[in-house]
Amino acid sequence: MTYVVLENCIKCKYMDCVEVCPVDCFYEGENMLVIHPDECIDCGVCEPECPAEAILPDTDPASESVMDLNKKWADIWPNITRMGEKPADADEWNGVGNKLQDHFSEKPGDTG
Ligand code: SF4
Ligand code: SF4
Repeated sequence: MTYVVLENCIKCKYMDCVEVCPVDCFYEGENMLVIHPDECIDCGVCEPECPAEAILPDTDPASESVMDLNKKWADIWPNITRMGEKPADADEWNGVGNKLQDHFSEKPGDTG
């Protein structure tokens, strides 16, 4: 069992989730975060912290489409353990459709 980050995180990247994760299993891309499924201990504390409602347990069918994305990029992107500055236009991107297709970036993040 694990939690996963959904596509609505893209360009929102508020990072509230990072602050509460007890095992630091978030990884940072340029404009979104992912959860490492092998490191997440399934505690669930991050889910209600996300202002974009972009975190779900893998028991939810909506998580299926992003499971591979979380797994793949958690192995490639750097670990993030503290909250950085959210994007200035994060609120404008909250809820925008098709983000994965139109706005996903493979570049790593640099908050650290
Ligand atoms: S709090 Fe939500 S939107 Fe912000 S980085 Fe975490 S998953 Fe993404
Ligand atoms: S469910 Fe718990 S362990 Fe998993 S990412 Fe969220 S806070 Fe971290």
